[in-house]
Amino acid sequence: MPLPETDTLIAYPDGATTSTGTVLHNESIDGGRTAVILDTTAFHPVDTAWPDQPADRGTLTTGAGTRPILDAVTGGIHDGRLHLGADLPVRTGTEGWTFVVAHIIEGSPPEVGATADVRVDEGYRAALSAGHTACHLAALALDIALADAWTKPAPTDSLGNPAFDSLAIQRSVIGEHRSTDIYRIGKSLRRKGFNPAVLDDPDAIAATANQHLAAWVAAGGKVGIERDAPALSARRNWTCELGLESARIPCGGTHLTNLDQFASITVALTVVDVEGGRELTMNTSARTR
Ligand SMILES: [Zn+2]
Repeated sequence: MPLPETDTLIAYPDGATTSTGTVLHNESIDGGRTAVILDTTAFHPVDTAWPDQPADRGTLTTGAGTRPILDAVTGGIHDGRLHLGADLPVRTGTEGWTFVVAHIIEGSPPEVGATADVRVDEGYRAALSAGHTACHLAALALDIALADAWTKPAPTDSLGNPAFDSLAIQRSVIGEHRSTDIYRIGKSLRRKGFNPAVLDDPDAIAATANQHLAAWVAAGGKVGIERDAPALSARRNWTCELGLESARIPCGGTHLTNLDQFASITVALTVVDVEGGRELTMNTSARTR
């Protein structure tokens, strides 16, 4: 069965939770499971390069019936081989590769050429979208709260503040109405001019970040994803109106459509000493209306 030669077209960046496509390819994977590739899908997969937002939950329906989609990962096709998830050795968008969403199912694979309806669990998607939007806002608020900790000019974020978040981030995990970001403050960040003494009072930093988050939520503002094309490998940016400013961050996930959908976004910070430096954990909670 030939492998697809064009990227999967993805509908989830626009907020879609249902899609109708065609089965292009099935591939057996470990555990008696099958990776199903469609021409188009509304199902958000775990991104190989930056696995912050989990896969959607939902179902795949063909003439042969409805079955749960157990997982979904991004994959790449090169030289007649499909590389899935962690086995994908290149970044999405690498020239000469085709990038696809692989829907993981159990049981007999659907027929190639069959029409396939994808239906995403809307409540779970909405909760992850709230968590992801809040995660970006919390990062921007943290950058503001730490702006005075820099002793020399540093690269800046999309609001023009020193980019602590992108310079120090180690891991980001998005959940339902929440996220956890882990930052490492070591020698390289200190060399860039970051003074770690400010982390002696994490509650004070959190209080400043929370003031900004509360003001942004109270003001409302459009949130969206900008993209040039519907292909999986096309560049996508999260955009958000924040009063008179607007933020723009590369992002592959899903989001709410306006800040007025939030009742509140708050962060809590903890700092621990680790070998060679300190580790800052930011836990973000988002309540929606
Ligand atoms: Zn994102």
